Amino acid sequence: MTLLKRWRTRVQAAVLVLAAVVAPEAALCQATFGIISQDGPNEGFNDPSRPDPASTVGGNSGATLGAQRRIAFRYAVDIWASRLTSDVVIAVEASFDPLACNATQADLGLAAANTVHRDFTRAPISITWYPAALANAHAGFDLAPGSSDISAQFNSALDGITCAFPRAWYYGLDGNPPADTIDFVSIALHELAHGLGFQTYMDADGGKLGGFDDAFLLWLEDHSTGDLLSDMATDAARAAAITNTGNLHWVGPNVIAAGVGLTAGRHPGGHVRMYAPDPVEPASSASHFSTALEPDELMEPYYIAANHDVGLTLELMRDIGWSIDGSVQGNRFDSSSGGGGGGCFVSTVIGF
Ligand SMILES: [Zn+2]
Ligand SMILES: [Zn+2]
Repeated sequence: MTLLKRWRTRVQAAVLVLAAVVAPEAALCQATFGIISQDGPNEGFNDPSRPDPASTVGGNSGATLGAQRRIAFRYAVDIWASRLTSDVVIAVEASFDPLACNATQADLGLAAANTVHRDFTRAPISITWYPAALANAHAGFDLAPGSSDISAQFNSALDGITCAFPRAWYYGLDGNPPADTIDFVSIALHELAHGLGFQTYMDADGGKLGGFDDAFLLWLEDHSTGDLLSDMATDAARAAAITNTGNLHWVGPNVIAAGVGLTAGRHPGGHVRMYAPDPVEPASSASHFSTALEPDELMEPYYIAANHDVGLTLELMRDIGWSIDGSVQGNRFDSSSGGGGGGCFVSTVIGF
């Protein structure tokens, strides 16, 4: 089933940018990604403009703007490929295109799973939707061979003169963007996470997709009633839950266990707050961590600062059924898999 929803990450000019020190991720390859550029000649990932000198200083040696974009995107892909385990290539369509942009706010990126699947071979839980990449990982083969698993777009206007937003992309790999820029690797990691399963397929009115649960919805709770959203009898109850600010919680065991490091956004019982503004934000509500979390997490809805740490997001991936770092979680995974030497991706565009 094809999804039309896209989850957006926005940025506000007033948000303070903090420097971040980032430790490099392990380079071991647990999954292989295929990157399919949707950009044409001389635009997007192929933009021949001069590279950003600041990004060059940040470790990105791309000789053009397009080359810097490809290098930074591959860097983000490699971080996920080093942590998530799958024997099936995860196919990502990606592009740079103009997205909404004005003097005070810009859409940075949007991404989603292209297809969702239920009751497939070796599905962990029946009558429950899984995004294509995760469903394929469990099945051990490509359940939708005619389509890519994830689509992602990034706002090319940030680098152009048509966008009044005062900050441009930073393509450096060091997580240390100048204050007037936005760290692309952070946004790429964030958008890829949506496509890998960090999203519910419930709509903003509380309706389940086709009437079925999804692997993300299963762990959402309304703490004021103690009910899981998947168990609620009506769409209205779910719609109320996702605007119940402070009480929409993630109750998966891996996030709860790792959430002890939070100094804010965590209920004393261990549940972790999810983004539940009132009124609902259809592109964001429920499918992000709450902005209340401290320290900040990768999957909050607004960009604050560079963050290459998959942190609690990785634990949430575990909760929804991903095997991490080659571990076995009651499914068919072997102890290792992936693409072998040179990087955790295969490219269907020469030079990507
Ligand atoms: Zn997002
Ligand atoms: Zn709770």
